[in-house]
Amino acid sequence: MAYIKVMLFYLIGLICGIITLAMAVDPTVGWMPPTLSGLVTFLFVYLAGPATSDPGYAPPRARQDEEEAAPATLPATEKTPLNSALSTNDSGRLIYQIPPIEKTANGYLLNPGTTSQLTLATDSEEIAQAVRERIDHYENGEWLEKAPLAPVLARYQAHCLEVDAYIKKHKKQFKETISSLIENSQDWEGANKTDQSYMMSEFTDKAMQSLPIRLSSDIAPLLRDVPDTKGLDEIFITNHGKEAHEIYIPYASHIEKIMQISDTDKLVIQHMKKLVNATLCLQGADIPQSVLLQQLSMTDLSELISDCNIHEKAKNKADAISLLEGAKGVMGKLVNILPLSELYYLIPPKGMEKKIRDLQMAWQYYEALAKLMKSTYSVARTNTFRLITAPEGEKLRWEVKSCDDCADCESLQLIYEHSPPQPPLHVGCQCLIFWHTAAEG
Ligand SMILES: [Zn+2]
Ligand SMILES: [Zn+2]
Repeated sequence: MAYIKVMLFYLIGLICGIITLAMAVDPTVGWMPPTLSGLVTFLFVYLAGPATSDPGYAPPRARQDEEEAAPATLPATEKTPLNSALSTNDSGRLIYQIPPIEKTANGYLLNPGTTSQLTLATDSEEIAQAVRERIDHYENGEWLEKAPLAPVLARYQAHCLEVDAYIKKHKKQFKETISSLIENSQDWEGANKTDQSYMMSEFTDKAMQSLPIRLSSDIAPLLRDVPDTKGLDEIFITNHGKEAHEIYIPYASHIEKIMQISDTDKLVIQHMKKLVNATLCLQGADIPQSVLLQQLSMTDLSELISDCNIHEKAKNKADAISLLEGAKGVMGKLVNILPLSELYYLIPPKGMEKKIRDLQMAWQYYEALAKLMKSTYSVARTNTFRLITAPEGEKLRWEVKSCDDCADCESLQLIYEHSPPQPPLHVGCQCLIFWHTAAEG
């Protein structure tokens, strides 16, 4: 009603103003003396004034970001119980905390009351709580990642029901696409392992793109078969410690490969030093000589052979390495060729040398699971915050910023005039919602 009143006053004021102006140009057309018309204009504008300063009318500012200062009071009505998840901190900032985990028939709901559900398939409240602590990094409205999620998921072989449903729906098509790309490739058969791994990452991108719900390619490990590694993470923790387990997993794809890390990568160096102490990593001259020699080109190897006074000729790289391995003075010369102090080499955990490939696959699966769960949790949190802070009883214009390249999400309209849109459309959906008041346009 306040809008209509204001608009009416302004409209009449405007008409009087136009008449005044018209009469000034040609006084003969007027039906009212100019001074009277001007007075009426003044009166209407004056009367409209108090209406615009009515607090009931003043449009609230868009409050969709916790970085902004909080309003003096929370959104007017308490219609939605979700408002109980809102509070203000000491510095007056509006804080949204997802309510605590909830037991359900199938496990524990990690994010009750949000726009999407993540259910951990477990009977253990302790495990669900441990996962929740790792997935929710918001403290006082700020994102603070204190500890990684994947190691906990790996340790308890955790499953998320909503992600399982995604896997069940897409795994067959993903695997069939990969198989057909390999079958139809003319280069696959003759390619060496390195080239095949490059080709595989290209095929993986294509297979992910072919799925009806599109998620990024780093989620692909979820769609591959995962070997059974039950209990191995517990043995790892017993032998090398919990901290080493958490540090080691993100580097799983580098096991038994040389890593060159410069001094400027302070965090990685810190990780490597801890892994060296936990007997999971070798540094510099401690790395097996054959592995170090593998880093050299055939030209360097040939030079090294002649420097070490070896008179036999090497036919190929493997031959050169076997001639040099254990030869006198090789290590002393390697120091001048390789940046030994920057080289690190992860070794398999104790007693797991034969299972290391299985563990790598399992850890890649849990890394992908952690990534998907974290992004789903975070987007649901943001969208829920925007829904519950939208002003009640006000005409709002809702906007969706939909996921890129996802046919499902692109089906959403961009603007909604009557009610808020309903993303997420699937697990991992990154569609974000925004609202604008009429005054903002
Ligand atoms: Zn989508
Ligand atoms: Zn989406």
